[in-house]
Amino acid sequence: MSDCLFCKMANGEITPDIVHETDDILAFRDINPQAPTHVLVIPRRHISSINDLTEADQELVGKLYLGAKAVAGKEGIRESGYRTVMNCGAGAGQTVFHIHLHVLGGRGMQWPPG
Ligand code: AMP
Ligand code: ZN
Repeated sequence: MSDCLFCKMANGEITPDIVHETDDILAFRDINPQAPTHVLVIPRRHISSINDLTEADQELVGKLYLGAKAVAGKEGIRESGYRTVMNCGAGAGQTVFHIHLHVLGGRGMQWPPG
């Protein structure tokens, strides 16, 4: 998707602050962090939202979570705890329509989220 911000990060057109990457996923720091660690894990391949996932994406979604675990290790928050969130749709707060797993940590978290 040529006009997708996160596709531009995945293909190197824009260079984010990368924390972790593999052939399939990229993890970079959120530009407007909501916690001491706030990293977004994205698939390199464009998928707009959870609603667009298919059976063929099952392994890729697993890789997003393994990416979150790798980020937590690198950031030193694996033991203290961290939250993973994927918003789906504008009503849930999704603003960038290329799926991304938020990894938030380094501070206490409240429940329920707002
Ligand atoms: P969401 O609201 O769940 O779609 O999350 C989108 C996230 O992308 C927000 O937390 C934004 O702060 C973040 N974001 C938007 N533009 C950039 C950017 N250029 N670099 C890094 N993060 C960004
Ligand atoms: Zn995209």
